Amino acid sequence: MTPTLDEITSLVKDIKEKDKALIEKAYNFAQKAHEGQLRRSGDPYFTHVANTAKNLADLGMKAKTISAGLLHDVIEDTTITREELVKEFGEEIVEMVEGVTKLGKVKYKGVERNVENLRKFFISIAKDLRVLVIKLADRLHNMETLEHVEPEKQKRIAMETLEIYAPLANRLSMGRLKGKLEDAAFSFAYPKEYEEVKKLLTDKKDVDEKFLIEVKDKLTEKIKEAKIKNAIIDYRQKHLYSLWKKLQKYDMDISKIYDIIALRVMVGTVADCYHVLGLIHGEWTPVPNRIKDYIASPKANGYQSLHTTIFTGNGGIVEIQIRTHEMHEKAENGVAAHFIYKEKTGLDKIASKQFEWVQQLHDLNIEEHEDDPEKFLKTIKMDFFNDRVFVFTPKGDIIDLPEDSSVIDFAYAIHTDIGNHAQGSTVNGKNTALNTKLKNNDIVEVQVNKNAKPSSKWLDYAKTSLARKQVNNYLKSHSLLSKFLSFGKN
Ligand code: MN
Repeated sequence: MTPTLDEITSLVKDIKEKDKALIEKAYNFAQKAHEGQLRRSGDPYFTHVANTAKNLADLGMKAKTISAGLLHDVIEDTTITREELVKEFGEEIVEMVEGVTKLGKVKYKGVERNVENLRKFFISIAKDLRVLVIKLADRLHNMETLEHVEPEKQKRIAMETLEIYAPLANRLSMGRLKGKLEDAAFSFAYPKEYEEVKKLLTDKKDVDEKFLIEVKDKLTEKIKEAKIKNAIIDYRQKHLYSLWKKLQKYDMDISKIYDIIALRVMVGTVADCYHVLGLIHGEWTPVPNRIKDYIASPKANGYQSLHTTIFTGNGGIVEIQIRTHEMHEKAENGVAAHFIYKEKTGLDKIASKQFEWVQQLHDLNIEEHEDDPEKFLKTIKMDFFNDRVFVFTPKGDIIDLPEDSSVIDFAYAIHTDIGNHAQGSTVNGKNTALNTKLKNNDIVEVQVNKNAKPSSKWLDYAKTSLARKQVNNYLKSHSLLSKFLSFGKN
């Protein structure tokens, strides 16, 4: 099905006339450029780019990005040249189109052979995160039409989606997109397991839903009585793929999983969130150790919410998530939510802090691994796809590090000299060894002494490639010097 122009533009909030005109121009241009081309499904090729644009509008992206989505295959697949496209749409949109074209060439499993493309991939996304969002919207439509691809290719594409694109969506905090990508890929990547989870779910879901509706009705009343304004209560079912991931941790025992369907309360302010939590705990008994305050301590990808799980009193157990409307928007659409108010390449200050890793990775790739593809891939997997911890300097600056990083990684992330002369440290005000692993929200201070220096032992504790590289550099340059200085002593 080809979305109409109106279906796309109606998804853009408060759209201006000139933005509407831009999208219309790109829509007509792409339709004409792809005329006569068909997809494997037999649909006109234009269906694909129009759906990509619709996905972008649905994610909260604005006119320029949506237009780039419409034009994303024009340079690669039609006779239109770069110059013609620049003349019609300007440099900014064309650069996005080119970025997506380069990303398109990055092939999973073929990656080893094509490291140069992977390097380009990070350079383009570091330059403009919107490129990655377009690529993800494009991938989503390809996943939704995967049934038309030759069977032997389906599995590869599905695995690539689960191992590269969904983690990327997660790193951009785009929860809804991540869920959609994973669910579309699940049945192709793991057909047997998919069926198994679906069956487990049908038996359990109805019972859960019954308890949940009871709680929802009662809670709606309580919130009304408490005069909390602008509250929305709804519920969501856990995505199948993430349910499977969780089931694996619980020996596939679905009775141990309480958030298959979770109740969601969205309110206007943070104070209202805690007020609602109080109302819930006043009415129902919370399950011990299941209360999580991700508002005070956000998850590594920025997710914020209060979670609690309650006994319904008649045999049921229900998870409830409480958040502000803004937190909800950011959890669902992540980086796209930051583009909602202003469309520009740069992000606001908080977002650019949160997405600083893109830039770091870009820098790292350019310097290193020119001719060692295997090592390059290992670095990417380590630094990029692993979960991150966010820690603070005493001044409150956020430092974003891979999970299991130590104080040594932190010190080098701040400055090479701080790393090279680190002597001791405090974490949350307590004296701590340099090899201490850091946790989210730790406040870290490094004490330096100009006579302190790195030892080869540090390599056991340094997790980031940056710290390892600096320690190695130091050791290399100083071992030559010390050999020279100790020459003739024995
Ligand atoms: Mn495409």
